[in-house]
Amino acid sequence: MRPLPKPAWAEMERGATNRLVRVPLRTCAGCRRQRPQAELIRVARSGAGELVLDPPAGGARSSGRGAYVCPAERCIEQALAGGLKKMLRYEGSLPGDLRKRLIERIPALEGLR
Ligand SMILES: [Zn+2]
Repeated sequence: MRPLPKPAWAEMERGATNRLVRVPLRTCAGCRRQRPQAELIRVARSGAGELVLDPPAGGARSSGRGAYVCPAERCIEQALAGGLKKMLRYEGSLPGDLRKRLIERIPALEGLR
């Protein structure tokens, strides 16, 4: 079998069956590093302009424009300071409880690695 070309958005990882699987990568709105999508918190902007956090890995994804942030306080702060609004094309001020909601997600994700 020929090796597949590696797309820029993915990295190879050992899957559950020990076969190499492609993992989609997303850029953190805080530190700008790329990480596997499943390790990041997804923030989506709904059609109504509401910001929703997606459930970690698995679960149904909200539709709409999304941005990602590492499950780390520093990244969350950086993302809230600018990157997140830009990535979501969000105008106006971010909801006041967004920081708290993001930080609440950290424990669910940080053990993934
Ligand atoms: Zn980050």
